[in-house]
Amino acid sequence: MTSEHRRLGSNGAPSHLFYQTRQRRPLVDRAEGIYIWAQDGRRFIDGSSGAMVVNIGHGNPVVLEAMRRQMEKATFAYRLHFENEASEALAAKTVEYTWPGMDKVFFVSGGSEAVESCLKMARQYAVATGQASRTKVISRFPAYHGSTLGALAVTGYTALSAPFTAMMQEMPKIPAPTAYLDRDDLTMEQRGLRYADMLEAEIQRQGPDSVLAFIMEPVGGASTGALVAPDSYYGRVREICDRHGVILIYDEVMSGAGRTGKFLAAEHWPARPDLIALSKGFGSGYVPLGAMVAPDRMVQPVLEAGGFQHGYTYAGNPLACAAGLAVLGEIERLDLVGNAARMGDLLKARLTGLMDRYPFIGDVRGKGLLLAAELVADRDSMQVLPKGLNAYDRVVELAYERGLIIYSRRTRGGTEGDHFLVCPPMIVTPVQIDEIMAILTDTLDALAAELNLPVAA
Ligand code: PMP
Repeated sequence: MTSEHRRLGSNGAPSHLFYQTRQRRPLVDRAEGIYIWAQDGRRFIDGSSGAMVVNIGHGNPVVLEAMRRQMEKATFAYRLHFENEASEALAAKTVEYTWPGMDKVFFVSGGSEAVESCLKMARQYAVATGQASRTKVISRFPAYHGSTLGALAVTGYTALSAPFTAMMQEMPKIPAPTAYLDRDDLTMEQRGLRYADMLEAEIQRQGPDSVLAFIMEPVGGASTGALVAPDSYYGRVREICDRHGVILIYDEVMSGAGRTGKFLAAEHWPARPDLIALSKGFGSGYVPLGAMVAPDRMVQPVLEAGGFQHGYTYAGNPLACAAGLAVLGEIERLDLVGNAARMGDLLKARLTGLMDRYPFIGDVRGKGLLLAAELVADRDSMQVLPKGLNAYDRVVELAYERGLIIYSRRTRGGTEGDHFLVCPPMIVTPVQIDEIMAILTDTLDALAAELNLPVAA
């Protein structure tokens, strides 16, 4: 039995909570900007924006004021009984960030719900347009798309799905485009095409008439460690989906709302998805909020065929939408997308610079402030560190002890590999990046000493 099973609450009595956490953590007191304080007085830099959520930073007074104003009017009005201005305004604002034709929004309360909504929208569109044989959604391995059964079916993460595979329709997976690991004579762009062509091969294997959609993160999140495919990948995936009538879904739950230095990560490439899932930074942690963005050309046939058979009680509630609207307002007013691009370049250069001192950093990647570093035994071969070292866990703990919160996983490609993500809020300044780097360097020195890893002089 681990200590987790005998967990005590803050008052010393047995706790009634059973979230799975790696470690016990201090009680939170307050949070402001990129900082968060525990009740014992310790101050932390929120270097992962929670779980890549708090894009605009903690305690933004404009958002809090907008929430207070809305709360004083109405916190909840059921959408079948009342329309509300906040949800109309937030929908209108959201589509401003997309492209012509992408003009319908469906609000939800989180990332899993946003992904579920995309899967069900794709399916109802297929049924409404005479393509009822299409049921399979291809995704990538590894990938994380959520914890509800539909989102889990497209999640490529064996430990998470294993207990449930017998009770759900597990979906086909293709390898994530980990071109940086390949040791062949191809250029990166050729590798990008090779990974995209795996989608076509899988569509053929499944039977094109049975394939409904392909879902991917345009810039990977925690499971792949901010994986960015070679540019050639995105256009080829779009072509393949078009050729076979397969709907392309971008899960931008983590990459969206400015984190990669564009409002949508999709904007980094000319290819465009058919459906988009948003959450996390979209509500920036102020309220549970997410959205599916869909084109009218898909929504209309579904509505005409009897309506979208889907929805959540809390969807589009006035408080969540008022907060979301204020979050987008702050992203614009403070030019946080631009700042994410600028500070992302700075932080990425600083993280890349760590490779001189730490030969066990094999790769630094990502876009904007969705950045990760991979820890390896050997940079040339990209051989992973022994599992028993628990490097991904230790780096987080050593940083935490030093007042820096980062995020990590041991997943990559077809194997396991340690990486950590550094994704501070998009309000981060150059001075704060210095502060993050100082603690990170101290952390990596401690990691090297503890795990007996080499450090350059
Ligand atoms: N998709 C992606 C890419 C995510 O990162 C997450 C959350 N980590 C989800 C979906 C699920 O979001 P939620 O936890 O809000 O349900």
